[in-house]
Amino acid sequence: MSQDVLIELSHVVKEFDGELIVKDLNLKIYKNEFITLLGPSGCGKTTTLRMIGGFEKPNSGDIIINGKVFNDLPPYARPINTVFQKYALFPHLNVAENVAFGLKNRSNEFLINFFGIDANLPKKEINKLIKENIDKAVVDALALVKLAGFGSRKINQMSGGQQQRVALARALVNKPQILLLDEPLAALDLKLRQNMQYELKEMQRKLGITFIFVTHDQEEAMTMSDRIVVMKDGVIQQLGTPKAIYNEPVNRYVANFIGESDILEGTYVKKDVVNFLGVDFDCTGYKFANGEKVDVVIRPEDWDVVPVEKAKLVGEVVSSIFKGVHNELDVMVGDQKLMVNTYENYEVGDKIGLAIDAYEIHLMKVSQDEKAV
Ligand code: ATP
Repeated sequence: MSQDVLIELSHVVKEFDGELIVKDLNLKIYKNEFITLLGPSGCGKTTTLRMIGGFEKPNSGDIIINGKVFNDLPPYARPINTVFQKYALFPHLNVAENVAFGLKNRSNEFLINFFGIDANLPKKEINKLIKENIDKAVVDALALVKLAGFGSRKINQMSGGQQQRVALARALVNKPQILLLDEPLAALDLKLRQNMQYELKEMQRKLGITFIFVTHDQEEAMTMSDRIVVMKDGVIQQLGTPKAIYNEPVNRYVANFIGESDILEGTYVKKDVVNFLGVDFDCTGYKFANGEKVDVVIRPEDWDVVPVEKAKLVGEVVSSIFKGVHNELDVMVGDQKLMVNTYENYEVGDKIGLAIDAYEIHLMKVSQDEKAV
């Protein structure tokens, strides 16, 4: 991922029927990055994507691509293609014709330039070269999405996963600088979706195209993205790498949305000491005022189960679910229920000791946010 800014959204505002849907959004997207807009239904992800693609116009603010303001330019005039959740393939065209559509509806002038054809050649020769080049581009695009040899199939002879690949090939055939993907995997079953996640990431890396992906699925976002934009009510809550967002959420909303965690009320006692559940724990890397209230985020996998005699914190197992590799426990400590993941087996009613390393404790400023998403 380079640090060259390809797209900039500057103070972008969008309202529908007097309701603010996207509120003063500022975002820089780099060349070659895989960036994901993540958030629950209705938070404005699709609207943001549609403004980048030119399908919606912002009420105010600018959409800047390659340093140029694109607010008023239609989709076809942008170096962008889009893959929608509903693939929008043409049922009366075969696979190759669907893929070729991305090129065939372009002007001859565009195609001559795109394929590097000598414009001074006789018209007949130019048309022949255009046709040959389109055919080759279609074959290449189908190979790219692992559908080599499927060109003459009818769309209704393709599975959902294959149709998704056709849509992808059609969007890639004219080598856009930017690909927008609006929940493109939502209709696929889990296994297929996971395969496609890896393939999309690979493809993006190989092609060096900037992918802007929209999903409400945090696991999907974590798997593929270089950076994730977590949105809520048309406002960016946090922008960062999957790791940063997982390990250092900025508020309860993000912590709840990404992965599982317990968020506990705590007090920053003094440098590198935080008190929660009535116990002082070592923590590291935070600067709060002594005595300041904080939100403490603990991921279930970060607890260590230790012998009761040696533990500062002791709880009782109230639920134990075997998950294949690990066990998911619910542990009551006083009247607080904690999620604890462990490789050991424990039964309901077992008393266990809990410990946690200083660097696994994440502290946040107390947010006024809701407790659950
Ligand atoms: P989803 O995952 O459900 O698509 P989203 O985060 O992508 O959600 P948007 O599709 O951007 O959300 O929609 C945000 C809000 O804007 C919703 O309340 C939606 O009803 C509203 N909205 C979107 N498009 C229009 C439109 N053309 N006219 C009126 N309201 C709209």
